Amino acid sequence: AKVQQRAGHFYFSHSMGIEIRERVKMMHALRRAFDEGQLFLAYQPQIDLATRRPMGAEALLRWQTEDGNFVAPDRFISIAEYSGLIIELGEWVLRTACLELVRLRTLGYLDFMISVNVSQAQFRHPRFLDILRQVLTDTQAPAEFIELEITESMAMEEPAFLSETLHQVKQLGLSIAIDDFGTGFSSLNYLQQLHVDRLKIDRAFVNEITDSSRGSSIAEMVIQLGRKLDLSVVAEGVEDERQAAILANLGCASAQGFLFARPMAAAQLADWLKHAGL
Ligand code: C2E
Ligand code: CA
Ligand code: CA
Ligand code: CA
Repeated sequence: AKVQQRAGHFYFSHSMGIEIRERVKMMHALRRAFDEGQLFLAYQPQIDLATRRPMGAEALLRWQTEDGNFVAPDRFISIAEYSGLIIELGEWVLRTACLELVRLRTLGYLDFMISVNVSQAQFRHPRFLDILRQVLTDTQAPAEFIELEITESMAMEEPAFLSETLHQVKQLGLSIAIDDFGTGFSSLNYLQQLHVDRLKIDRAFVNEITDSSRGSSIAEMVIQLGRKLDLSVVAEGVEDERQAAILANLGCASAQGFLFARPMAAAQLADWLKHAGL
């Protein structure tokens, strides 16, 4: 048993070594991909559930390697955070999304919003607000049409710091959404104090909404919470009409998901909007 244990232990640390080596390899590959312009943004439309008209889009980072394969953002974002590249990368995302917003406005889409994901490391960076101001100045993007998505888990940490930073972000004119809502444990009281505009129901809760064996769903609770706090609610990961109908009935304002559109390259977005009648 002892030998097996030691063997098991050896195996464990050996595989950890590979894991770390893999991460370092990916870190370098990501750095190179970023420098060589292999990263791009895909935009996934968000629609008004009552009218089915597009209201905006979420910018989602994409990495396509030389062999044509995509690396999932869930994998490489954590590497970017770990290596610190996320600061530069996040600024690039923000800048690119702002430029796309400006471009869409020149095409006549004047009510269109763009949502940008902001990671915790970015948000906590001492120059975060300076970077935000600089990007707005450089791109001339109107802040009222930009929403920052922060995750609920982020919202739970350091409430005082968060509250102050959100206040500053709001002063600049941007909107704030809490992403993956329902996965954390924000108290009602706490939410009320934060300067947020939207709650984004996590895909997992949209997924289980048609599961009739359950009583009142988490999605329903989030929508009710939104109503109480006067916050708009958007549902993510809507894949079929049944989900859309239930959400609409519950009073959810907007939605995003494969039912309406998959994330698409910037070049396709304008075409899609034309077809969507916007
Ligand atoms: P997220 O912010 O929760 O983004 C929503 C994810 O759900 C996206 O995955 C999107 O492609 C996917 N999705 C949208 N509609 C549907 C649907 O109907 N069904 C299913 N099954 N999935 C749907 P993606 O693009 O792989 O992004 C994964 C995560 O990576 C994002 O989750 C976000 O946390 C992170 N991420 C992506 N881009 C950025 C970025 O620019 N900055 C930061 N910090 N994080 C990013
Ligand atoms: Ca998001
Ligand atoms: Ca989300
Ligand atoms: Ca998510």
